[in-house]
Amino acid sequence: MRKYNINYFARTLPIFFLLNITCLPVKSSSALAAWSLNSNGVLELRTKKNSNLKAYYQKANQLYGDRFWVDFNGELLNPRIIKGNGPIKEIRLGKPVSGKTRLVIEFAPEKSINPYKLKLIGVDENKWKIKLTSFPLNSFKTMKEGNVLKTTVLSKKRKELKSLRDINLGNSDLPYIKRNKYSVVIDPGHGGPDSGAVGIDGLKETDVVLDVSKIVTKLLLEKGVNVKMTRNKDEDLDLSPRVALANKMKSDIFVSIHANASRGKKRYINGIETFYYSGWRGRLLAEKIQKEILKVSPGSPDRGVRRGRYFVIKKTNMPAVLAEIGFVTGRLDSRRLEKKIHRRRVAFAIAKGILEYFKRVG
Ligand SMILES: [Zn+2]
Repeated sequence: MRKYNINYFARTLPIFFLLNITCLPVKSSSALAAWSLNSNGVLELRTKKNSNLKAYYQKANQLYGDRFWVDFNGELLNPRIIKGNGPIKEIRLGKPVSGKTRLVIEFAPEKSINPYKLKLIGVDENKWKIKLTSFPLNSFKTMKEGNVLKTTVLSKKRKELKSLRDINLGNSDLPYIKRNKYSVVIDPGHGGPDSGAVGIDGLKETDVVLDVSKIVTKLLLEKGVNVKMTRNKDEDLDLSPRVALANKMKSDIFVSIHANASRGKKRYINGIETFYYSGWRGRLLAEKIQKEILKVSPGSPDRGVRRGRYFVIKKTNMPAVLAEIGFVTGRLDSRRLEKKIHRRRVAFAIAKGILEYFKRVG
């Protein structure tokens, strides 16, 4: 058991407990995983490993009772207030500044705590304890969120993410096909004033899909596929010219790349889906692409391969699909889609799906 000393200051009492100096990136999720204020006055915390916490005490003033709070790295998603009981007025979970999480325990007006006895103890690499009060036992009911005792285990998702890092994204890792035989039209959805879906932190569908489309195009060109993009910059483009390009060129396939948004921008909705309009070839192409995108998007739900009546896949004369590579409004998907490395993985997946399709249909 390691103990950490407290630095005393006149009114506000900052307590710094540094397990090490690792700081999480500003945009990461909150380092606070669970907390419990037990009826014996002990506050228990479970955090991410190697978190850097700062704790403060402030004496009551006209507005507030005695307050004790802890700041964590990483952004809290849902600020909230939990009504207290007994000597605890309330517990607040807030976002004092972007990228931070704050847990505040405010005591009832007539109650006070002795800050000189506060001592936060690091129980292990992700668990913390501090005795806050010395009120009679069971003078209030335990308040908690989550399970403070849960040990951090490598979840299935994390394991999958780790395995993702081992996927090679090089051209030589893509299937071999005959050079100069196939032609493809890649259609990045939206563009110009039509930004498509706008998601968390202003993440725009049009930017995401353009970047992915460019990488798909590059990968396929390197494989000897004749590829045209319907747009290769942020420009306004109607649906008809997209279709016309493919029909005029008589490309073998047409692949439109989009990102999704849920109604009401629900953050818990994530997932991958690929649409085709008709024919077994369209369906096969959609299946190949869907399967590959899922491989690089662990944890993101498989919303399946489905028939869709979208203009660009309905009006094109060749097998055509529309891939939705994730939700810009979804917590999981958007965090990935904003990262270059993930966009590269998705592009690799789409290119691989296309090449697998060509290998199959010959
Ligand atoms: Zn779209």
